[in-house]
Amino acid sequence: MRILIVEDEPTLRQQLQRSLAAAGYVTDAADNGRDALHLGQEEAFDAAVLDLGLPLLDGLSVLRQWRAAGRNLPVLILTARGEWHERVAGIDAGADDYLPKPFHMEELLARLRALIRRAGGQAANELVCGPLVLDTRSARAHLDGQPLTLTSHEFRVLAYLLHRRGEVVSRAELSEHIYSYDSDRDSNTIEVFVARLRKKLPPEMIETVRGLGYRLP
Ligand code: CA
Repeated sequence: MRILIVEDEPTLRQQLQRSLAAAGYVTDAADNGRDALHLGQEEAFDAAVLDLGLPLLDGLSVLRQWRAAGRNLPVLILTARGEWHERVAGIDAGADDYLPKPFHMEELLARLRALIRRAGGQAANELVCGPLVLDTRSARAHLDGQPLTLTSHEFRVLAYLLHRRGEVVSRAELSEHIYSYDSDRDSNTIEVFVARLRKKLPPEMIETVRGLGYRLP
């Protein structure tokens, strides 16, 4: 799952990047509204954390333009404390949730999980496929109750496939959701990650749909 972080305050932005990475997400960050608008329109994200007070273009305008362009990713807005009218405006502009500053990182992560879950039609924090269980709270996976050791890339591939369980996911789509903007994206490496995952999972679990991609049953 790939998250866009839009926050102009450097310390908070870095905290968000670190915490989201530790929670198993891949992130891109923007420190102004113009870059945020561009990234949100051009790149594939599973959710965005959007501050409202931003240089160059304010967060509400960014959100309105994303929505006007048909970008329907879940958006969690960050607002200054007590600015209730900002929250109303944010929700009117198409935000899915909001969090007043200062906030606890745990709460932000919980709200983000809920947004991603709802967007994928999931009810629970645990993504299950037969003997495989991935807990989105701890960013850990278990097979038959035994902890599964996964690299961060393997985890992201598996988490994305589990979020899209039952659907065919192409290599291109997978690479858009497991790599950040500035990383060296190569959809051939997806095959490598899937091959490694297959060695750790029941062999037939990840189905290859010829010419189209992969699917978890
Ligand atoms: Ca700000």
